[in-house]
Order: sequence, then structure tokens, then C-alpha cells
Amino acid sequence: MINFEFARKEMIEKQLKKRGISDKRVLKAFKDIPRHLFVPGEDMDHSYDDSALPIGSGQTISQPYITALMTQLLRPLQDDVILEIGTGSGFQSAILSALCKFVFSVERIPELVSYARNNLNKLEIKNVQIFVGDGTLGWKSGAPYDGIIVTAGAKDIPPGLLTQLKPGGKMIIPLESGGYHKLNIIKKEESGFVKEEVLDCIFVPLIGRGYDE
Ligand code: SAM
Repeated sequence: MINFEFARKEMIEKQLKKRGISDKRVLKAFKDIPRHLFVPGEDMDHSYDDSALPIGSGQTISQPYITALMTQLLRPLQDDVILEIGTGSGFQSAILSALCKFVFSVERIPELVSYARNNLNKLEIKNVQIFVGDGTLGWKSGAPYDGIIVTAGAKDIPPGLLTQLKPGGKMIIPLESGGYHKLNIIKKEESGFVKEEVLDCIFVPLIGRGYDE
């Protein structure tokens, strides 16, 4: 039987801190939120491994380091309202819920929406709302957002997401680049949008009709 508490501490030390995750609020959220409650079936024993894992419907819960890095790059503040695209297991939503005021999260696969809602209920998390929808269109009723985090690989930046970002806001998004993805930070500044590439990564695809809006 795996000692999940111990495995979680090891993950934080060896996978997160050693690779440069230093934001104390992010590290605390990873300590407080049990990732194994977001991993189904036999894979639960691998919840604190350095890898993405299957969650059903052909989708994955992202590698812990990538979730932590994206959160650290977004740097949500206590009063922020954040939009997540690609709820999956709900783990990233749970991490964000510990760091900001409210999280809207959109997932295209209804079975995963039920799975994620159930996972968040187990932890009595109240400041996340999950919707079935096409996240390439964003989620208009909660907009504008202080930050947007896209947890699937986009072939381009969906224009609707940029519109739903507050001035001064930030979006973290993996963008297709030669067969894999590059994690990007997009900042909405007075002078326009500023794009910065951070690192190479691989995500499941962001599928939707919001690319050509
Ligand atoms: N954030 C998730 C977690 O913590 O478990 C991992 C997300 S998984 C890597 C990517 C998710 O994006 C999948 O569940 C997939 O169904 C979803 N997805 C893909 N295209 C989408 C779209 N247009 N709108 C909403 N969700 C989408």
C-alpha cells in the first residue's frame, strides 16, 4: 500500500522544488490537495509519479510539474477570478481554488465534467464552477477574467479567449509548434498583447470551433 502523504512530500521536493517551483502559495496548494483523489483506478498508486496519467475518455491529468509550473506562471492572487479551459480530472481547478477567489472551468467531455465535479465535492471545494462546453469560445458569463489557463494544446490562440481577458491579465497556453507544444505566456498590456515562450511540452489537443471566430 502506497503512503500517499510521503509520496506527495517527495513529489514536492524532487519534482517541483528541484525544477524551480518556488512560489510558496503554489507549493502549499500542492501539499494540501491530494492528487490521488483525482486519479482513477489502479493508476491511483502512481498519482505522485513524474508523469501524466489517464483519466478516461482518452484524456489525461497533466504531469504534476507542468500543473505547478503553469500555476506559478499564472500567479493567481487571492481576489482573482480565473478561467480554466480543459477541466479533465479537476485537479488544476482544485489547485487554483486554493489560490484565488473563483474558478470557472470548461470541459468538452460531459463524463469528465461529472468526474471532476465529484472529485471537487470530495474535498468540499465551493469556489469552482465547471461547465460542459467548447472552451475555445471561452466562457462569456464569467468574463472578463484576471487570468486564463488553457490545459490542452491549442493549434492557435482562440481570439475569444483574448477578448475575455482583463487589461493587465495573463493567459498561460500551450501552442502547437512542429509536432509538439510550446508553453506560452500571453499578457494583455496597454500597448497590445505580449507573447513569451517558456518551454517545450506535449498536451492532448484543444479541439473546438473558436479558432476562426
Ligand atoms: N486540467 C486537467 C487536470 O488537472 O486534470 C488536465 C486537462 S487534460 C490535459 C486536457 C483536457 O482538455 C481534456 O479533458 C480535454 O477533454 C479538454 N479539452 C480539449 N478541448 C477542449 C475544449 N475545446 N473545451 C474544453 N475542454 C477541452
